[in-house]
Order: sequence, then structure tokens, then C-alpha cells
Amino acid sequence: LNELFSSLPTTIFEVMSKLAMEHQSVNLGQGFPDAEGPESMKKIASAAMYDFHNQYPSLLGVPELRQAVAKHSEREQGIPVDWATETLVTVGATEGLASAFLGLINPGDEVIMFDPMYDSYTSMAKRSGATIKPVRLRLPDFSVPLDELAAAVGPATKMIMINTPHNPSGKVFTLPELEAIAALCIKHDLIALCDEVYEHLVFRGAKHVSLRSLPGMEERCVRLGSAGKTFSFTAWKVGWMSGPARLLNPIIKAHQFLVFTVPSSLQRAVAHGLDSEAEFYHSLGPSLEAKRQLLEAQLEGLGFELLPAHGAYFLVADVSKFLRPGEDDVGFAPSFPSSCAPGRTTKFLRPGEDDVGFAKRLTVEGGVTTIPISGFYVGPSPPTHLVRFCYCKEDAKLKAAGERLRAYL
Ligand code: PMP
Ligand code: GLN
Repeated sequence: LNELFSSLPTTIFEVMSKLAMEHQSVNLGQGFPDAEGPESMKKIASAAMYDFHNQYPSLLGVPELRQAVAKHSEREQGIPVDWATETLVTVGATEGLASAFLGLINPGDEVIMFDPMYDSYTSMAKRSGATIKPVRLRLPDFSVPLDELAAAVGPATKMIMINTPHNPSGKVFTLPELEAIAALCIKHDLIALCDEVYEHLVFRGAKHVSLRSLPGMEERCVRLGSAGKTFSFTAWKVGWMSGPARLLNPIIKAHQFLVFTVPSSLQRAVAHGLDSEAEFYHSLGPSLEAKRQLLEAQLEGLGFELLPAHGAYFLVADVSKFLRPGEDDVGFAPSFPSSCAPGRTTKFLRPGEDDVGFAKRLTVEGGVTTIPISGFYVGPSPPTHLVRFCYCKEDAKLKAAGERLRAYL
């Protein structure tokens, strides 16, 4: 058995959603929207099945979608892309990430990643042989410690991984931060893997800038996008990548043996979406901002301290004042390991209730589900007083969560 994977616990998203269902709590944990994407895309997907688009498409993806990805890149970020040699369609961004680690990394390569990070990165990077060098974003606004970042680069560093807008914090990397990352990549001849699945989920006043759009970065960056986020179709599992052919080619080789290809009916629908439903994805940022404000108003009234953010659909709250001292484990499970930190359980965290215990208790007793943040950290001594609320939900659900919290806390 593979040592890493046989010891991995189930991802925190699955665990918390299951617990939420068992206890019929309001699930503000796992990130999936209540409102679905455009009708036109559903129609195209179903019509494509009746139009005999049911056999293997090219392993690279259908030309319509690859052309749409190239046009979208040019239109939204000013990054020119040759659809024929610089695009790939993947089974969600998750498979794109896995293929990227497998295709780009040699055992022993160091990869700099910002802590906290989305949970799939760690295990897939490690399985590819990478050594992860975490650089911790600074609270409360998850800013990049530029001197620590520069100091993290060593002779074995191959790649910097960046996720903006960021999960779990909702942080949007600023231009000076991006410029500093680009300068390091150029100085040390590094490549960058850019997870931009939340590229359109940005509030007014903030702007998503792709690292790949900065001078000198086109040849160094691979970008990832997702129909789950851009069109709120998380179950479709359609993602896309773009990047220079020299980087994309080994990723394509990994992709061809991991999944080979992606359902063509869904690809056709996503091609239509990227070409013709810009109004939908451009409206996501403002509508999410309003939802965030709604949830913020409920939480602030209850005494949660909220960390700032400018995008995605996550809100991180400091729950220190609600943690119960002396309650290492509240009796729901002997251990509750997180997916990022295999083997870590509540008992290794600080004495007293931590974010994991709190999130469990809140689901079971309070009827509201969140995601504890400590498991998104790779470095030592993660914060254990932060939980993530996902607010891409119906307003009624956000209000119901507020009422339940008011009654419970
Ligand atoms: N990257 C980040 C930062 C995510 O939050 C997610 C999860 N939804 C993914 C990648 C995976 O996206 P997909 O559902 O398209 O596989
Ligand atoms: N990205 C989603 C989140 O952060 C979850 C995706 C998943 O469950 N794999 O909530």
C-alpha cells in the first residue's frame, strides 16, 4: 500500500457535509452554490447527448472549448493563448492540479506554497515527490510576508504555487504581492502553478490579476480554471488549463493516463458558457458581496470577529471567544483528523476546544456547519481559532444560520 495515501483521512469537506446531513444542520461548510448556472448551458449539455456526442473526444478536449478558453484568457486577462498548443480540458481543476504535479515535478523538487492552502495540493504534491516549503500568510488579512517568501527560495526550488482568489480565506493577492512573486520566479528561474478557479468571484473595488499576465511570466505560468466556480456547476467537474506548450506537454501526458478525457456534452456546454454567458460570471462577484454582507451582519451581531477578504465565497471568523476551555474533545469521535495534516488529531492541538471541536459541536448542537481552518495549514502550530463559512447560499439559509447561532451561542 502506498504509505501516504493509506494513512490519509477523508477530506474535511466530505466529513463535514456528511455530519451536516446527519444532523440536518444549515451547511455553510463545503463550497457549493445553491443557485445553479445558466439554463442555456444545461440545454446544450443535454442536447449534445441526443446529438451523438457520446464517444471519446480528443484527450486535449473539444476544439470549441479550447478555443473558448483561449479567447477568455485574452479577453479577461490580456494573455494571448494558442488554443491548439496551449490549452487542456480537465476533469475539474482537481484533476488539472494532480496532472500538473505529476507532469512538472521530479522527486526532491521543492515547491513553495502559501499556508493555509486548499487541501488537495498537499497530498498530490507530496505523491509527486515534491518537498513542500510552506510560507505562512499573515493574519488578519492573509498578506504575503515578502521577506519570508524570498528566504524560502533555495537551490532545489522548482515552483511557486499560488491560489488567488484564495481558498479558504477569500484573499485576493495584491498587485505588489504578484509583482514580488513574479520577480522571484524570474530571478531564480522558477515556474508557477496558478490556481485561479475563483477568478470571477471578486468584489467591487478589488481586481483579479493573473500572475501570468505580468511581464516575463507568460512562459513560466500554468493557469487553472473551473466550470464549477465560473458557472456554479460543481458536479460537472469540467476544468481547463492554459500555459506554454513546454510546461503543458508533460501535464498532458499525465492527464492522458489519469483520465484520458472529459465528457464532450459538458465540454460543449462550457464552451458556450465561456463564449456567451459572460454576463452570468461577471455578476457573481457583486451578488456574492451582498451575501457576504448579509452573513457578516448576522455574525458580527453575535460577537464573531471576521477577517477581511475581497473574493471567493468564503468568510473566515475568529471564534476564540466561543471555544470552551478544557474540552479537548467533545465526545463525537476519538479523533477528527483533517485532510491536510494526516495523523493530526484534536489531542495534538492546544489544550481546550479547538476549531475542529468547535465546528463539530456547532454542527451537532447548534445546527450550523462550518469548516475548521487548522487542517488547511501544512506548517507547524497552525491557528486553531478560525473557521470558514461558505456563503454562496440562498439568503433564507444565511438568515436561518444566523437565527440558529443566536439561539445556540
Ligand atoms: N482549487 C480550489 C482553490 C478550490 O477551492 C477547488 C474546489 N472547489 C478546486 C481547486 C477544485 O475545483 P474543481 O471542482 O473544478 O475540481
Ligand atoms: N472547494 C470546495 C471547498 O473549498 C470543496 C470541494 C470538495 O469538496 N472537494 O469547499
